[in-house]
Amino acid sequence: MEKQHSFWEREEWLTPPDLLITGGGIVGASTALFYKEKYPDHDVIIADKGITPEGASTRNAGFSCIGSVSEHLADLEISGEETVFNRIERRWNGLQLLRKTIGDDVMDYENTGGFEIFKDDAIYKTCADKITWFNQKLMDRLGLDDVYSESEYEGYPAIFNRVEGAINSGKLMRNLYERLAKAGVRIWWNCKAERIDSSSVLFESGLEMKPKKTVVAVNGFTQRLEDLPIKPARGFVLVTKPIQDFKWKGTFHYDEGYVYFRNVGDRLLLGGGRNVAKDEETTDQFGTNQKIREYLTQFANDTLKLPENWEIDIEWSGIMGMTENKEPIIQQIKPGVWVAAGLSGMGIAIGMQVAADLVKSLD
Ligand SMILES: Cc1cc2nc3c(=O)[nH]c(=O)nc-3n(C[C@H](O)[C@H](O)[C@H](O)COP(=O)(O)OP(=O)(O)OC[C@H]3O[C@@H](n4cnc5c(N)ncnc54)[C@H](O)[C@@H]3O)c2cc1C
Repeated sequence: MEKQHSFWEREEWLTPPDLLITGGGIVGASTALFYKEKYPDHDVIIADKGITPEGASTRNAGFSCIGSVSEHLADLEISGEETVFNRIERRWNGLQLLRKTIGDDVMDYENTGGFEIFKDDAIYKTCADKITWFNQKLMDRLGLDDVYSESEYEGYPAIFNRVEGAINSGKLMRNLYERLAKAGVRIWWNCKAERIDSSSVLFESGLEMKPKKTVVAVNGFTQRLEDLPIKPARGFVLVTKPIQDFKWKGTFHYDEGYVYFRNVGDRLLLGGGRNVAKDEETTDQFGTNQKIREYLTQFANDTLKLPENWEIDIEWSGIMGMTENKEPIIQQIKPGVWVAAGLSGMGIAIGMQVAADLVKSLD
């Protein structure tokens, strides 16, 4: 039987907002924040399918990064110089906006610096030979000097990136939501959108809402709602129990950024390995791929040489949204409906900037 709403619900709780945002990750939440700053009197609702933001923003690895040299070289092959340096610039500017908006202390931001380690001398040489070129480009475009330098870590040749850092993603998102609550944004958890038309949004519960404007910020789940070229990509992360005399302090990348690890206190956070099973990981279903789990476990043993008694404390997956050229899609897709998605695994860096750009186009 269809659920009946009360007079009070209809008059006070279910009134159509000026802006309805489906998806409450960093993009949806930042969109609400910036929109409310611009239009304090407008009514805004965020509706998310989870009881927490249930995609990538609270399930990532917390790297604040502009990318490693081998990752950029691989991207140059696919997208060319202009696109790659535009992307690095977007990541850098996005990180500055994130730090200014949230505050370093609030999200435990640390400018740890980051190492890309290598096990193949030929690949290391190819990357190291490009350091001067990258540094000059970054100086010209961003005014940053000597970003990358040759280095070494635990016996591995490495390239150090002095502008890399780490954050606590949980604290970042909690802070955003505390501020949204103060700003009067209505937040609806466990509220999955099933269909989005120009004039209405239909939720799984059967509720239909007619907002003035709708934003679709569901990233890796976009294809469930709209026919856009954004593929889901599952990412896996594990955190170990505390390890005595833990040596890997800071942030680290390996293999074009496909493997990433950092310390969380004296624990190891290790993630990635999606390239080991790319087709299987093109999914928006949460879960663990044993092939990837084994690959990362072996990496922890053989490459990081963790002591024999190390143990996993917790492991999880998150869902990213990838575009072909890694550029996010920020556009109006039909009257009254905008999309901001396809952050391609870089949402800590570019998420807030994507939201800020979107809010400009909502006028
Ligand atoms: C394992 C992993 C590690 C990562 N590590 C890093 C990192 O170190 N650095 C970095 O910069 N980036 C990292 N990322 C990427 C980054 O987390 C994402 O790019 C970013 O969080 C995307 O934000 P978003 O708001 O677009 O999407 P999401 O955070 O996924 O938010 C989308 C929201 O939409 C909701 N939703 C979906 N469908 C519906 C629906 N039908 N109705 C209502 N709500 C819906 C979901 O529940 C979700 O909360 C990582 C991602 C993963 C998965």
